[in-house]
Amino acid sequence: MNFNTALLHQSFGGEKSTGATLTSICTSSAFAQPSAERLEAVFNNKAPGYAYTRISNPTVDAFERRIAALEKGIGAVACSSGMAAVTMSLLNILQAGDEIIAGSGLFGGTIDLFTDLEAFGITTKFAEEVTAESVSELITDKTKAVFTELIGNPKLDVVDIKSVSEAAHSRGIPLIIDSTTATPYLINPFDYGADIVVHSSSKYINGGGNAISGIIVDSGNFKWDISRYPGLAEYEKYGKLAYLAKLRNGIWRNVGCCLAPMNAFLNSVGLETLGLRMERLCENALGLAEFLKTVPDMQVNYPALADSPYYELTKKQFGGRGGAILTLRAGSKEKAFKLINNLKYACIATNIGDVRTLVIHAASTIYTHSSEQQKQSAGVYDDLIRISIGIEDIDDLIEDFRQAIEKI
Ligand SMILES: *Cc1c(COP(=O)(O)O)cnc(C)c1O
Repeated sequence: MNFNTALLHQSFGGEKSTGATLTSICTSSAFAQPSAERLEAVFNNKAPGYAYTRISNPTVDAFERRIAALEKGIGAVACSSGMAAVTMSLLNILQAGDEIIAGSGLFGGTIDLFTDLEAFGITTKFAEEVTAESVSELITDKTKAVFTELIGNPKLDVVDIKSVSEAAHSRGIPLIIDSTTATPYLINPFDYGADIVVHSSSKYINGGGNAISGIIVDSGNFKWDISRYPGLAEYEKYGKLAYLAKLRNGIWRNVGCCLAPMNAFLNSVGLETLGLRMERLCENALGLAEFLKTVPDMQVNYPALADSPYYELTKKQFGGRGGAILTLRAGSKEKAFKLINNLKYACIATNIGDVRTLVIHAASTIYTHSSEQQKQSAGVYDDLIRISIGIEDIDDLIEDFRQAIEKI
């Protein structure tokens, strides 16, 4: 199956019992079983079935299966938000004293999270650029995970998954990729050696900006060494599914960051048009980036532009498609604000992956809790505007930016 066909038909064929073409929304908190023995079996993973929606639910399950298949993983666990997915993907394998290696260009919330984790004895070493060399240099005996965004938001730096995963694997460490901005439309990170993929499915997967959610997908390929990851010992019996089994039976369930069935439904519906939307979004982003390049005294950053340092990698990994985010440096904070305020169509909002164009001054909002040093490393400058392109007609978007730029 090709991508758009897979979005509709892979791991989903409607509901046999009713003929419904969409997943039903099952909002029951509890699921009765015919006998105490059966409920015991379900609780102990000895029989299929549902017990309680914090642990599993048919509507959420349907969404998880579709994403797992789309990412070519062996399974997935959906979460209440992208941040919950990032947090759980790591806490599932970490303990006090452990270290994470991460890119410094991460999403602001993730950088804040890594600061929060310090109180629990988990520290993060940041690489300005995530490469095989920078990661190898930072690895110590305590390193338990390499975590990076595939296309940094909003730094827009692209990671070479193959070489970074090889560097991590050679030291027995998994590579966890936040693929939110790339989406399965651009790439399946497992094909290049990533071990775990997380998405903020609030963004492109949902597509309509109508539900917060996240998801963790496991490739099943990483060989967990129990002496390094002692928490997995109990789950070794699940073989390839050990990581996911630990997650679902452990911290994810106990923290209680499950996805609401209604939001899983909204994501499943949104997912079906991911290919069409991304095709349009990538086209629009390139169109606007090419126009903005012609504006004097402004700098545009988009990975699919020929002068981007990530152009070759974008061609190699994403078939030349650059995703749906671009950034513009207006010259000063004042000019950036004025430009933003003069746009007619773009919403001034902190989100990405909506069908409508969204703009934000990142330094004063998403990165307001970051230090100057952190902002610098994340490529967040005082004059930077992040544009999350929408599906509007490109001529209208270009005209809108043209008139707003003229005013400043
Ligand atoms: C938005 C985002 C997150 C956090 O997701 P939420 O659904 O808002 O919790 C994590 N990583 C990236 C790259 C994001 O863009």
